[in-house]
Amino acid sequence: MVIGHRIDHKEDVMAGSAIPEVFSGKFGCGHEGEVSLANVPVAKRFSRVDWLSTKGKCRECFAKEGQKRLEKENKASAAWASEQGLPGLRGSAKQVGFGEQRRQGLIQDAYAALVAEGDWDDAAFVKGVLEPAQLVTGAHWWIEAGESEDASVLPELLEKSEPMRARAWEQRVNAAPIVGTSKQEDWGRRVRFEKVEAAREALDADVFAQRVEEPAARINSAHWWIDIASAPVEALVDLLESAGDDAYIENVEE
Ligand SMILES: [Zn+2]
Repeated sequence: MVIGHRIDHKEDVMAGSAIPEVFSGKFGCGHEGEVSLANVPVAKRFSRVDWLSTKGKCRECFAKEGQKRLEKENKASAAWASEQGLPGLRGSAKQVGFGEQRRQGLIQDAYAALVAEGDWDDAAFVKGVLEPAQLVTGAHWWIEAGESEDASVLPELLEKSEPMRARAWEQRVNAAPIVGTSKQEDWGRRVRFEKVEAAREALDADVFAQRVEEPAARINSAHWWIDIASAPVEALVDLLESAGDDAYIENVEE
């Protein structure tokens, strides 16, 4: 067959040719290794081999360099966040690094769109973006939000976030501010709001208003809420009714 013959012929030529298929030897970093050149155009293989042996890095060094760069970027976005008064995010180490970078990118893009190129002033930006951003501490929220193409929608996304809905509820019912360490407060607020919302759906409106919403708004111990985090909604009324003195923390600040 002509076609088969042509292929055989081509393979013969490649096998006998000096054009490298693989780089094998010492990389620029000094470590030995091997890397395929199959994806490198034939005309560029010699210069690639040259480059690999002088400036190239072995797989381990390449990965280490990427890791270092990532750590540097993460540090930079953490520093930027603290300048803006934004808290560290919650999540796995990987999510936190990624989320903080996304947060910085989103906020900067939103500033460009709304203030630099739009008609917002700085005060509106603080109120519409930076203040809500202080409440939204889940790394995964920022990672997801970063997928929206238009950063000018950030204020709306923040408004719809659970921490912002929690704050709106707290203001509406004049809820006692949760007290604890800052980490506990963040967690306790989330638990309180989640429980209240779950009960709102599950219970009769009167029962909800009197036996859940009203006492929940007064119980301000972060610790108390964290303790009941995994309790089912059916137990909530009883838990609220049997809450002891430790559920209420006197706020010493005026
Ligand atoms: Zn190396």
